[in-house]
Amino acid sequence: MTETLAPGSKIGILGGGQLGRMLAVAAAELGLKCHIFCPDPESPAFDVAAAQTVAGYDDAQALERFAGSVDALTYEFENVDLGAAQLLAGMRPLRPGARALEVSQDRLAEKEFLTGCGISVGGFQPVDDLAGLQQAMDAIGAPAILKTRRLGYDGKGQVRLEHADDAAAALEAIGHAPAILEAFVPFRCEISVIGVRDVYGACACYAVTENVHRNHILATSTVPASIGAATAEMARATALTIMNELDYVGVMGIEFFVVDDQHDGSDAGGESLLVNEIAPRVHNSGHWTQDGCAVSQFENHIRAVAGWPLGPTERHCDVVMTNLIGDDAAGWNDLAGDPGARLHLYGKREIRPGRKMGHVNRITT
Ligand code: AMP
Repeated sequence: MTETLAPGSKIGILGGGQLGRMLAVAAAELGLKCHIFCPDPESPAFDVAAAQTVAGYDDAQALERFAGSVDALTYEFENVDLGAAQLLAGMRPLRPGARALEVSQDRLAEKEFLTGCGISVGGFQPVDDLAGLQQAMDAIGAPAILKTRRLGYDGKGQVRLEHADDAAAALEAIGHAPAILEAFVPFRCEISVIGVRDVYGACACYAVTENVHRNHILATSTVPASIGAATAEMARATALTIMNELDYVGVMGIEFFVVDDQHDGSDAGGESLLVNEIAPRVHNSGHWTQDGCAVSQFENHIRAVAGWPLGPTERHCDVVMTNLIGDDAAGWNDLAGDPGARLHLYGKREIRPGRKMGHVNRITT
């Protein structure tokens, strides 16, 4: 199987949200085509792709037809069914591979993988039932956060426990799903690194981004982050370790908590880093790269999937990325007229509370 896709080749993307849309646009700029597979007929990515399949992720025949019509495959969300991923990987190069999915779609597997790589994470305990949660609360103490092992995102499937007495209600709130209990990390700030690795193992990272969440959803990402040089270097080194350990191909987002040194964690000159989670895909906190770098995270993911050399990841300006969530997008006309705002809209027909509708990049120097 050839490693390098020639211009005109087709990349299959599982998932049709805004990430798939921006990947398809980046691919088109390189003369590559995309085929989007998504069960939602109104997928934002369909508008900008060369081919579309509307089918369920459990439809083996549709998946086989899809894989047969493309030259390489990728995904824009981490909850791709492992069986489907393995089926696809047997037909065409799947980049990143199924192992990255296996690790990142289960919070317990992810934490165990990270600690196995010698990377610091916050305290955690597996939880399967009430007795297990009570034991975990004894070990971790309050406050703590109970999270479902699978299918949680943007704060969904998470409950904060202030006291051991909250255990039964918390378990009820997550529907008694297999879970982990995490120690509440008293972080000073949250940061992330967007890394990329090509088919030959060459790696690069973008500048570290500082992220602010509101209602568990990313609100802003700012580069540069307000952290020391040693901390930034450690974050990038951690990203490289993770990508190399997974023999990863493509873009990955790694989210960290930055904690002051009196708290536990690996020392990085005045502040310490704990990995919160990894995402085996392009990441919302990397959207600033569209306007802050010569080659965005989307183009670099496509380059990696296509077996092409990576493009430069240097930052050429300071940027604040602001997500347009729900009604924020109703102000599109003012934003379009603001010369300091680079507006990106996802083409979603309906505004809903909490729905990511677009984002704005503001170049601040
Ligand atoms: P997650 O879905 O795990 O990324 O969590 C979403 C957000 O909740 C994070 O970005 C943090 O702001 C917060 N959060 C999650 N886990 C913890 C934790 N163990 N300690 C403190 N804050 C957390």
